[in-house]
Amino acid sequence: MHDETLCLKRGDPPETFDSLVTPVHRASTIVFPTVAAYQARRETIYDGYSYGLYGTPTSRALELQLAGLERAAKSLVVQSGFAAIVVTTLACARSGQQVLFPDCAYDTVRPFAANFLGGLGVEAVFYDPLLGEGIESLLTDRTALVWVESPGSMTMEVQDIPAIAAAARRRGIKVAADNTWATPLRFKPLDHGVDFSMTAISKYINGHSDLIMGAVSVADEALYRRLKDFCRYLGYGVSADECSLALRGLETLAVRLDRCEASALTLARWLQSQPFVAEVRHPALASNPGHDIWRRDFSGATGVFSVLVHPWARNGLAEAIEGLEHFAIGASWGGVHSVVAVLDAPPPRTARPFEHDGPLLRFSIGLEHVDDLKADIEGSFSRLSADARPSTEILS
Ligand SMILES: *Cc1c(COP(=O)(O)O)cnc(C)c1O
Repeated sequence: MHDETLCLKRGDPPETFDSLVTPVHRASTIVFPTVAAYQARRETIYDGYSYGLYGTPTSRALELQLAGLERAAKSLVVQSGFAAIVVTTLACARSGQQVLFPDCAYDTVRPFAANFLGGLGVEAVFYDPLLGEGIESLLTDRTALVWVESPGSMTMEVQDIPAIAAAARRRGIKVAADNTWATPLRFKPLDHGVDFSMTAISKYINGHSDLIMGAVSVADEALYRRLKDFCRYLGYGVSADECSLALRGLETLAVRLDRCEASALTLARWLQSQPFVAEVRHPALASNPGHDIWRRDFSGATGVFSVLVHPWARNGLAEAIEGLEHFAIGASWGGVHSVVAVLDAPPPRTARPFEHDGPLLRFSIGLEHVDDLKADIEGSFSRLSADARPSTEILS
């Protein structure tokens, strides 16, 4: 054989190797032992291997592990959390039908609904996240899917998912949950009547702020096949390298969550008494909308919560945030580093106006020592409280 050919010959090392880690299987082309196997490859997109886009042993390993945590028949990984929202929605709704979203949905949902679903003839209806079984009055013969997101992005309302799911189920309508905040370690949507449990792996499951991925889990094999078909039509896929990183993140998820949860609760409770704070939104605080439901349905909290800031504290807020040493300014969350997102006002609502007109801070608490985080906020915000607070409020 010539050197040119030898350069292309795959070596066959002994097969007895095993390690504790799922190997990274990179592939576009997948090869078949026979012509018959090649010709039957379409059937293997669901559980086997036909083309790198449809799955590798690395992505299947991640899906199997997620399915175990979700108590699902099947999980499906896709290239982002938002891609998981898109494929679930498109797999359920046809032209002429409606999809319901909570008013507190992840922010890209609104432009997606207005500019993309609208163009397909699918109507998005936004609803008050706290309406519980009152969702019944919004369900029609045209409703194809109800999304829930609990707690809601930025404003942290906890939804009565079992009541919403029961109302939808009575009419044969599917329910999808964006469970990114809780992760399957704190809430298992499929155990509460939900059909599609979606999570952004980009956040806690990976946990290291260095990849984008999402997943949808279902209790029903037929739904899984439908989702997988739509992933094929849309050209969705994930890389084995990133699945390998997600698998590594998953190994430490439980201990990371325990630490983030404890530190966040300490800070949330302390922040409640700070002068610039109008309200702290954290599901574990008794004042949080839906707190009793959170106690009933969730097995714990995580490290993300919001602070509604008094309007008078707008002056000097940017300086206070920029003065923080241990918090990066950013939108994403769920990693080992603490991050804060700063909004000049709560995100727009259409179902029911939001009753706060000051800034909103959304903290994602990482693994730094909680005393350092508290001292950081205390130091950087002390001037804000002293300088910016109007004298009338100090007197009253
Ligand atoms: C980040 C996020 C998403 C989207 O996930 P990406 O992987 O960033 O696309 C969806 N829902 C919620 C609640 C999120 O926080």
